[in-house]
Amino acid sequence: MESKPDADPEVEPDMAQDDVERAWAGVAATARRTVAEGLVVGTSGNVSARVGDLVVVTPTGVRYDALGPDDLAVVDLDGRQVRGRLRPTSELPMHLALYRHTPARAVVHTHAVHATAVSTLVDELPAIHYMTAALGGIVRVAPYATYGTRELADAMLTALRDRTGCLLRNHGTVTYGADLDSAYARTEQLEWMCRVWLAARSAGNPSLLPGYEIEHVVERLRTYGQPSQRPSGQ
Ligand code: 13P
Ligand code: ZN
Repeated sequence: MESKPDADPEVEPDMAQDDVERAWAGVAATARRTVAEGLVVGTSGNVSARVGDLVVVTPTGVRYDALGPDDLAVVDLDGRQVRGRLRPTSELPMHLALYRHTPARAVVHTHAVHATAVSTLVDELPAIHYMTAALGGIVRVAPYATYGTRELADAMLTALRDRTGCLLRNHGTVTYGADLDSAYARTEQLEWMCRVWLAARSAGNPSLLPGYEIEHVVERLRTYGQPSQRPSGQ
């Protein structure tokens, strides 16, 4: 029997518990990946996944290599903590804004080097490569606001209109997806494109793709790859 998750962990249904634990294993593994693959250093960045009306998220200020099975933080969509002894990420406003206003099932935030560098140079990532279509179109840069604030969450939401990823000025990246793998893959693509643009820009004046071609590729990517691997709706 499904019942609404309660603030008391003792009365949380078993099924939801299992789903939360599975989600935490994925969130922690993805967070560790961001460090291993050089997308963040120290305790920077954060990762979350949605399970029903709950959000499983990395704790604030904890190194990802030190994360264990009991280090999860679980909040409801209003940000009330329903499970875990560690405080959730300071960027909870960004994560919750995405779960409230988009079809996101997972969110990845990083301070990836090339993406952060590009965020200080332009208002949008120039269309250097067709893979910008994998994020829904030209990637925008959200204006700077202090980390962890509602202001930053609002700026991010605006930059993400019809997109699944954006840059945060003088800060980093945010991407979301139907699952952790697709959110993470979008961060990788975004960082890679920023790197390509910086390399091309430092060597000369790169040619850019026209808007109609990006729109064409957005459509084409809907049927790219193996049918069984296509996320629905995003
Ligand atoms: P947390 O350690 O609170 O997740 O913060 C890291 C970060 O990237 C803030 O923008
Ligand atoms: Zn950050």
